[in-house]
Amino acid sequence: MKRYSAFAVAREALRNHTGWNRAWVKPTQPKKKYDAIIVGAGGHGLATAYYLGKNFGITNVAILEKGWLGGGNTGRNTTIIRSNYLQDPSAAIYEKSRSLYETMSQDLNYNVMFSPRGVIMLAQTQAEIRGYKRTAHANALQGVTTEWIEPARVKELVPIMNIDGPRYPVLGGLWQARGGTARHDAVAWGYARACSEMGMDVIQQCEVTGVRTSAGKVVGVDTSKGPIDCDKLGMVVAGHASVLAEKAGFRLPMESVSLQALVSEPIKPCMDVVVMANTVHGYMSQSDKGEMVIGGGTDGYNNYTQRGSFHHIEETVRALVETFPMIARLKMLRQWGGIVDVTGDRSPILSKTPVDGIFVNCGWGTGGFKAIPGSGWAMAELIAKGQSPLTEEFNMFRFREGKFIDESVAAGVAH
Ligand SMILES: Cc1cc2nc3c(=O)[nH]c(=O)nc-3n(C[C@H](O)[C@H](O)[C@H](O)COP(=O)(O)OP(=O)(O)OC[C@H]3O[C@@H](n4cnc5c(N)ncnc54)[C@H](O)[C@@H]3O)c2cc1C
Repeated sequence: MKRYSAFAVAREALRNHTGWNRAWVKPTQPKKKYDAIIVGAGGHGLATAYYLGKNFGITNVAILEKGWLGGGNTGRNTTIIRSNYLQDPSAAIYEKSRSLYETMSQDLNYNVMFSPRGVIMLAQTQAEIRGYKRTAHANALQGVTTEWIEPARVKELVPIMNIDGPRYPVLGGLWQARGGTARHDAVAWGYARACSEMGMDVIQQCEVTGVRTSAGKVVGVDTSKGPIDCDKLGMVVAGHASVLAEKAGFRLPMESVSLQALVSEPIKPCMDVVVMANTVHGYMSQSDKGEMVIGGGTDGYNNYTQRGSFHHIEETVRALVETFPMIARLKMLRQWGGIVDVTGDRSPILSKTPVDGIFVNCGWGTGGFKAIPGSGWAMAELIAKGQSPLTEEFNMFRFREGKFIDESVAAGVAH
C-alpha cells in the first residue's frame, strides 16, 4: 500500500481546505435526457454514479445537487470508519466498504487521507460487555477482523483516558485495528472528479422539485434548472429522502433529525485512535490538524435544522470529560449539525420502490460515511441489474414484512 509523506498530506489538506481540489469538477448545464439521474451529490450519490460508470459502463449519467458537493452530511460528519456491525447483511456491506476505503486514494487517484488508525468502542456497563463480545463472535463468523480487549489494553492504546471513571469505569472494548477515519470532503470531491472525467454531468445548485411518471414508471424530474428526462432515477438525499419520495408518490419509513458535532482548538498529537463511548454517548478522535473532533447524540425530536445548539455541547462534553479529563480545559472552535435519516431498525434502505425505475438509497442515519464506497458499489449494481446481493435484505418492504436488521445498539445510534 502506498504511504503518503507528511508533505503530501499537508499539501492535500491545504488544497482541500482552499477548495482548489473542487475546481477539478467541470461546471456544466443539464442535457435533455440521461440513462440515469442520481439526486444528491453527497458521498453515496457520487459513489453510486462512479460505480455505475466504472463497473457497468453506464456514463450517460447526471448527478443533481441542490447545494454544493458534499455540503450535506458527507461534509459534516466525524468520519468514523469501521465495519464491526452485528447482523450479517450489515457486516457484509460495511466490510465491503471498509476494504474499498483502503484503496480509494489509488482508485480515484485522489488522496482521501484514509487513516486506518483503529477504532475502540468502550464497554462501560455489563450489558455492553455482553453486547460487544457477542458482536466479536459474530464478526469472527462473518470474516470481519475485530477483537474484544481488556481495560489495560484500552489504557495502553489511549493513555489520556481515565479508565476508573466515577460513574462508568472502562470495562473493556471492541477494537477494530483497521477501522479509522478519512477526509470527508475529499471523498466527495474525489468521486465527483472521477465521475466528471468519465463524462458524467455533476450539476450543483440544481434542486429536484418534482418527479414525473407515466404508467407507473419514472420518465424524468423537474428541477430548478428545468425539466430533465431519464430512464432510471436514484434518490440518494439522506435527511430529505422522505420529502423526495413524497414527490414521487410513495412514503418511506423514516425520520429526519439533526445530529451535531464540534471541534476543539488544535493541540499537539495526544490520541492516535478513534474512541466511541456509547453509554455516556460521545465519541472523539484527533484530526490531522490537531483538533479534537467530538460527536454526540441526535436531537430528541424530528427537525430539518442544519446547525448546532448549546445544550448539545454541554451534554456531549459533560459525557466525555469523565473519561478524558484533559479535554475540560480545551476551547471549542466550531459546532454544526446535519440532517440524518433514521429508520426503525437503524439500518439503511437500498431498494427498488413502488415506482418502476426509481431506486432509493437512504436511512444511513448517524453512521453512513463509513458506508459510502460499499453503498455506491451495491447501489450501482441494483440500478444497473435490478438486484444486488449486498442490497437484498435492505429493501424498503422489510418494515412491512417485519424482517428488521436490528442495529439499534446503545442509545439507538450507530456511528
Ligand atoms: C454530525 C454528524 C456526525 C456523523 N458522524 C459519522 C461518523 O463518524 N461515521 C459515519 O460513518 N457516519 C457519520 N455520520 C453520518 C454520515 O454523515 C451520513 O450517513 C452520510 O454522510 C450520508 O451521506 P449521503 O451521501 O447519503 O447524504 P448527504 O451527504 O447528506 O448528501 C445528500 C445530498 O442530497 C442533496 N439533496 C437533498 N434534497 C435534494 C433535492 N431535492 N435535489 C437535489 N439535491 C438534494 C443535499 O443537498 C445533499 O448534498 C454523521 C453525520 C452527522 C450529521
